Amino acid sequence: MFIRDIFSKKRPVLSFEVFPPKKGLPVDIVYDTIEGIKVLNPDFISVTYGAGGSSKDRTVEIASTIKNKYKIEALAHLTCYSSTKKNTEEILKELKRNNIKNILALRGDPPIDAHSEEREYIYAKDLINHIKQVGGFSIAAACYPEGHIECKSLAKDIGYLSEKVHAGVDFLITQLFFDNEKLFQYKNKLAKRNINIPVVAGIMPVLNKNQINRMVSLSGATLPKKFVRILDKYEHNPKALKEAGIAYATEQIIDLLSWGIDGIHLYTMNKPEVANTIIRNLLEIRDAVTEEKISNE
Ligand code: FAD
Repeated sequence: MFIRDIFSKKRPVLSFEVFPPKKGLPVDIVYDTIEGIKVLNPDFISVTYGAGGSSKDRTVEIASTIKNKYKIEALAHLTCYSSTKKNTEEILKELKRNNIKNILALRGDPPIDAHSEEREYIYAKDLINHIKQVGGFSIAAACYPEGHIECKSLAKDIGYLSEKVHAGVDFLITQLFFDNEKLFQYKNKLAKRNINIPVVAGIMPVLNKNQINRMVSLSGATLPKKFVRILDKYEHNPKALKEAGIAYATEQIIDLLSWGIDGIHLYTMNKPEVANTIIRNLLEIRDAVTEEKISNE
């Protein structure tokens, strides 16, 4: 099924991100995660591509298992920074052979030894154009409520996002953020630029301070004062920080759902127990929001 068709039947959608274990580690880690989250009835599960290096080959294999064994819709991430068109076409064929119909099309981050003059794709938009030309996929793209870290201004980033969306994107997934107001303001800005496709909020539960410092330096996401206080208070008490991180993510999601978000995408970090605790805290709220949306249509 195309994920774009799920949005026309129900909102909010609920989805999760898993990542292929690094080379040398057993792939079972990710299947244990999928086993753990399938009981939450996800609308789709996404699988990262080459994030952190080394794991590209496993994305199709894992997405295929999600789709064909677990019968859950799979969203395969695909990056293009150092790819050739020939290589992309091989992966698209492989995805089709495995009945995977949904791709999150990304540029990816520059590798340390990047040679820009040799690149066949410059931006994610170029990959999206290519996938559209091949046909047969529902395409998602990344968006950045506080602007992409390389871009000088949020307004410029939204301008480029508009080009990317109009190349043929069906829905967007946001980078992690911790201040919902940033997302609400961003959605208003998107509407002014006629970007009206579904936006799914990417939520990262915080489990340790180093992890979050790394994420913030990579993404430029703002940390609200309340959040910094929690990190400072519990940084040396892993169990307490995990509990506080789960509570913060839960509260963030409740607020997003009551605001009318199109979807929640939980970055699981392959820790199914965390995803389970968060979503189980919300079962009644999720059902109530879905029913209300259906009765308003
Ligand atoms: P683009 O949309 O191409 O944007 C990249 C930069 O170029 C931005 O600063 C943008 O403003 C600028 N830009 C765009 N168009 C133009 C133009 N015409 N002229 C000038 N500037 C322009 N990375 C991985 O390696 N693997 C993954 O699986 C992965 N999954 C992700 C999932 C999500 C939900 C998100 C939010 C990110 C993910 N990433 C992943 C990270 C992503 O690859 C990086 O953030 C990357 O730096 C940008 O990718 P993009 O697709 O947004 O790029």
